[in-house]
Amino acid sequence: MSAKNYFSNPVLNATPADLVEQQTRLLQEARLREQIKYCHDNSDFYREKFQQAGAAPGDIVTMDDLRALPVMMQKDDERTSAEESLDRDGHPFGRHLCAPVEELFLTGTTSGTTGMPTFTYTFTKKDVEIISRGLGHRLAFNGVTKGDRVLFIFALGIYATSMTLWGIRGLGALPIDVDARAGSELMLRFGDLSRPDYLMCTPSLASHLADKAPDIIGKPVGDLGLKGMMLTGEVGVSIPEVKAELEEQYGCRAYDYWAPAGHAHAITCDSEVYHGMHGTSPDLCTSFHDLVDPDSKEPVAIEDGVVGEMVITSLERQAAPLIKYAYGDIVQIFTDPCPACGFPGRRIKLIGRADDMLIVKGVNIYPAAIKEIVSSFAPRVSGQMRIVLSEPPPRVVPPLQIKLEHGEDTRQDDLPGLGEAIAGALHDQLKIRPVFEWVAPGSLEKSTRKTQVFEKAYEQS
Ligand SMILES: [Zn+2]
Repeated sequence: MSAKNYFSNPVLNATPADLVEQQTRLLQEARLREQIKYCHDNSDFYREKFQQAGAAPGDIVTMDDLRALPVMMQKDDERTSAEESLDRDGHPFGRHLCAPVEELFLTGTTSGTTGMPTFTYTFTKKDVEIISRGLGHRLAFNGVTKGDRVLFIFALGIYATSMTLWGIRGLGALPIDVDARAGSELMLRFGDLSRPDYLMCTPSLASHLADKAPDIIGKPVGDLGLKGMMLTGEVGVSIPEVKAELEEQYGCRAYDYWAPAGHAHAITCDSEVYHGMHGTSPDLCTSFHDLVDPDSKEPVAIEDGVVGEMVITSLERQAAPLIKYAYGDIVQIFTDPCPACGFPGRRIKLIGRADDMLIVKGVNIYPAAIKEIVSSFAPRVSGQMRIVLSEPPPRVVPPLQIKLEHGEDTRQDDLPGLGEAIAGALHDQLKIRPVFEWVAPGSLEKSTRKTQVFEKAYEQS
């Protein structure tokens, strides 16, 4: 990895490290002005939003102007926009669609686990060309190259993850795309047969496949000879014990990556210690530069280590560009160069989803933060846990109840003391003192998609 290939944009790679921030801002601002004018000219949804905000497109010249604009979209607005375009225009892509519908080339939806799926991942051919370069670059950042085979296991077809296949193909690598709904047996048999160089899936699926491999293909996953695995879809690789266990099982590096709504392309670097996902295409959206408070939606000033809800504004999008979309991802942003690889751009760590946020005695708590602390007690705990909610979130009447798997070799007598130690650590770091219900290892199911973090007891009563 040469220092000059950090970014998908050649201009940024040619920029000295101490000037990357400045050059990024210039690129972003030039594209921002064009993107906003384009959206305003081509969508009555955006014309209304600008009117409501009391701003004209020409007012938004700098990144500071953008940050000062109110949030224009949240999930419900996107869904309403889609319902309105279904009624009015006969398509589900939303009134914020800015390109003619016959120009659409690829579409993908969110999972639709909560409400009507939205076609957030809708692209023209030009969009796909630009995004594939960004998506492919991230994989190349960690060594994926022409001729590599990439075992790619997600829910495929209409789902957003299929977008990444274009990035793999763009590199000249070959995706072996197996639908995650095929079941462990097929996934592992194809994994064994196709001799992949890389694996891409969710961290919980990678862990599940590692458990099942000896029974199904007669060997541990370490014998697949992978050069690396790129994992996404849930908090996992950022938890040191999860990363270390997966790397031990597979005998290769576990990388964390994402592209929420097809934006904010980012991936971790080749480092034993997790230093956040590196934003490799900052010229394609402004997400690492625009945060709000998840409750008030007021702007949060960005400094190294700050936490807030990421706001997406597209740059260079034709089909369904997003402007000031608070997408629900709570992130921590790092502005200093990466201590491991020297990456001079911004890095991001996913803290959780705004929908997952709990409020315990007025403190905002994210399940991922709990899981990170609980997992640090491995192998005395397995790391699998569920937060049991007796009332609908986000407010929780203390104490928070957590169902927790103990480790294989943990004795029953040790559980009270272990519970005390974990509760103490959670109190020190998050100011909560939960109560635990211990369950045997393996009793909480690992999902082949996204593992549920909550047990909604209030729905069962
Ligand atoms: Zn790095």
